Amino acid sequence: MSGFDDSDFIRLLEIVEQTEKERRSGTAFPKSTDADGYGDYAGDYDRVVSGLIFACDGPDLIYGNVYIQNGIICEIEELRGSQMKSHNWIVPRFVNAHTHIGDTLLKDPPLGSEISPYAYRRDLDSLVRPPNGLKHRFLSDLSTEESVDSMESAIWNMYQNGISVFADFREGGVAGVSALIEASKNAARDIHPIIFGRPLLSAPRIPNSSDIMSSHMFLDELRDLLELADGIGVSGANDMDEYVLAKIASKTQSKRKKLAIHAGEKDRSDIDSALSLDPDLLIHMTHAEKNDLKKAADANIPITVCLRSNLVTGVGLPPVLDMLDAGISVSIGTDNIMLNSPDVFEELHFLSKIYGITDSALFKMATVNGANALGCRFTGSIEVGKKADMMVLNSKSLNLKHVKDPLAGFIRRADTADILGIV
Ligand SMILES: [Zn+2]
Repeated sequence: MSGFDDSDFIRLLEIVEQTEKERRSGTAFPKSTDADGYGDYAGDYDRVVSGLIFACDGPDLIYGNVYIQNGIICEIEELRGSQMKSHNWIVPRFVNAHTHIGDTLLKDPPLGSEISPYAYRRDLDSLVRPPNGLKHRFLSDLSTEESVDSMESAIWNMYQNGISVFADFREGGVAGVSALIEASKNAARDIHPIIFGRPLLSAPRIPNSSDIMSSHMFLDELRDLLELADGIGVSGANDMDEYVLAKIASKTQSKRKKLAIHAGEKDRSDIDSALSLDPDLLIHMTHAEKNDLKKAADANIPITVCLRSNLVTGVGLPPVLDMLDAGISVSIGTDNIMLNSPDVFEELHFLSKIYGITDSALFKMATVNGANALGCRFTGSIEVGKKADMMVLNSKSLNLKHVKDPLAGFIRRADTADILGIV
């Protein structure tokens, strides 16, 4: 017998209920001066947050106060742990370096044809390859209102999951990018989208690239897209012809916008072409060989890995350790929301367990590496001068209580239910 009787069980339920109530009402995230530090004693500053701070890139774990003015971290005061009333963890918010939130309304589709009563044959192309994959057929029937509403809920979802920046590959040309801008405004949360648009005319191959009319229409669309978006997100070098790829790369570069491209997801056949475009960011590289990674490293091109997405689509495991060995800056993306929840905690759990990557390396992959890859150097770590994009985790939650190494606990165990508040 465990000695755990009915009265203990009732007490446990009360604790769970109370914690959940406090979390929802915000009272678990005290605003008074004495408990967890949101108050008048901020002195000259707008706000102060106290606890165990995961500071800088390392991270350096220090007890103390983070002082905030106009949303910017102005001072980090180190104190002794024994002086602290709050032992909550103050952690930088995540950077989700690759998403497709346009398919929010297509969550958890069949993954392929059934090959037995208990198994699917997973098929990446049938799910997401343009122009006829399930996702693209679905998106083409979606109204603007449905698209905006669903993306708004996805943004709110990511905000609650502790994400400060997300980089979205937005399908649907100019209208698709406009819908995401609209959804971001409606969501009105402190979460920053980096939008990679995709020309509609590049989805199916332009019937005849030398055709003056279609070429002009494509270039006009590309120009408009580059005005509106942060860059262009190419679905893959095998999905379009050389003329289209070359134009996308040169126009994006001349407008000083960013070029990101899926590469090596299903096999390595599109990696050479992708590298030849000299993109700002490679997505996946699941089938990259060491030589490919050396080229990427030599060209200083960062890579975003989407491990859970690769697992769902059954394409294999990306060589993350080889990427790190090559000196590449690796960041993390949750990829299509129809395949996985936009939850970076989950990605960290999988990456840690599958590869045995150190906690500090994973911490960087989930935060500062993504921020740097996307040109968002204003966020990604808790440092003086950066935006105060932080989340506060309840170190006394049932999940985190008794954790001896907070960084290990954060990377391998923490989840969204431990978040007390977003700063
Ligand atoms: Zn993708």
